[in-house]
Amino acid sequence: MPLDLFHPTESHLTLRRTVRAFAEAEVAPQATAHDRQERFNLDLFRQVGARGWLGLTLPSAYGGAQQDATAAAILYEELAAADAGFTLSCLSHSVLFAHHLACCGNAEQQSRFLPDANVGRIVAGMAMSESGGGTDVIGMQTTAQRVEAGYLLNGEKMWITNGVLNDGEMGDVFLVYARTSGNGPRGLSLFLVEKGREGFTLGRGVDGRLGVRASKSAQLLFKDCLIPVENRVGEEGGAVRSMVQTLAMERLTMAAMSLGIARRALELMNQYASRRRAFGKPLRDFGQIQRHIGESYAEWMAGRTLVFHTAQRMSASSADSQLDADAAKLYCATMAKTLADRAIQVLGAYGYSGEYPVERLWRDAKLFEIGGGTLEAHQRNITRGLSRLDQLP
Ligand SMILES: Cc1cc2nc3c(=O)[nH]c(=O)nc-3n(C[C@H](O)[C@H](O)[C@H](O)COP(=O)(O)OP(=O)(O)OC[C@H]3O[C@@H](n4cnc5c(N)ncnc54)[C@H](O)[C@@H]3O)c2cc1C
Repeated sequence: MPLDLFHPTESHLTLRRTVRAFAEAEVAPQATAHDRQERFNLDLFRQVGARGWLGLTLPSAYGGAQQDATAAAILYEELAAADAGFTLSCLSHSVLFAHHLACCGNAEQQSRFLPDANVGRIVAGMAMSESGGGTDVIGMQTTAQRVEAGYLLNGEKMWITNGVLNDGEMGDVFLVYARTSGNGPRGLSLFLVEKGREGFTLGRGVDGRLGVRASKSAQLLFKDCLIPVENRVGEEGGAVRSMVQTLAMERLTMAAMSLGIARRALELMNQYASRRRAFGKPLRDFGQIQRHIGESYAEWMAGRTLVFHTAQRMSASSADSQLDADAAKLYCATMAKTLADRAIQVLGAYGYSGEYPVERLWRDAKLFEIGGGTLEAHQRNITRGLSRLDQLP
């Protein structure tokens, strides 16, 4: 295969082949059972870690593979095509926690957590959203009050992926956003909070979710939880700056997960349309089915091009890619849901019934219209970004 936008180097092509082989052999076969039982596959998570993929973008000093944004997009696209729920746990650990700490933490904090995060010895997450609101980040209510011995954390965080693993066991460590002063963006700070700290407990789990059921999320509670100053990440009041530094990677990898879901939906409807016959001919001979397949291919390729174009710019660090990362997640989230919906339609009762994974693909795809930024938040960000441009390039 010639090198292209989706695999700019041989090593990207090799990564895709290796991850796809692993995903088909190890990840896809366990997906339905873990979705139905709402269980996180910790053994599989550690297998991903053993292959160096949990630390794909981390610096080599901590055992990471120091790969670029294109490699990260390939990894999450391929894993999500097999099981988006499981992949969300990997992404929350690797991108929202580890990559974030690698960007914004100091050397002591990085050497304390990144070697274990790299191989999956610990399971980590990031806690920003609260019961009272996720989109309105600046309105968060959790506080961190400066005291002599450090900071006293009070409040709660909600929907936190990897907050709980299985059977009520808490995840190991979290990056937690909290307000240290005032009401504005400069009053937010970021802290490392480990399991076992006094005053840090698990709230309610979030069971019975529509999709991504092979990842687990929970409420985290903080009651006079003392955090030492050395666990503050970045400057006091500097959390929004660190958030912005990592947002593009978060959105890009989530868009790549949507791409993986979309590819699987397209493959399944394409295969089924050849095998299934009606009125004496294969489904793919009917114009209405051709519309489902043809439009799906065009939309998947459009999303893929947008994701890998954005990844390439991020990899080269040549330009601010925030706008394109928002655009990629906005487009790919709904595109994946639409393709999964069409796949259910093409497969008829088999699609609706759970005998094929397309109904799970639809449920999983919906998450990305909400989690990691709602559609409306991306629309707002893009409109705000474009207000600085009179003409488009
Ligand atoms: C499975 C799952 C996993 C998650 N994992 C994590 C995690 O690990 N860490 C974490 O911090 N969070 C996590 N979240 C939370 C997620 O990021 C939030 O759900 C998301 O940011 C939206 O916040 P909200 O649900 O509070 O909705 P709200 O902010 O209450 O919004 C409700 C609706 O109002 C719209 N809305 C809000 N404000 C505006 C506005 N100004 N203009 C127009 N429309 C508006 C929204 O777009 C949305 O449609 C997770 C969520 C889910 C479902």
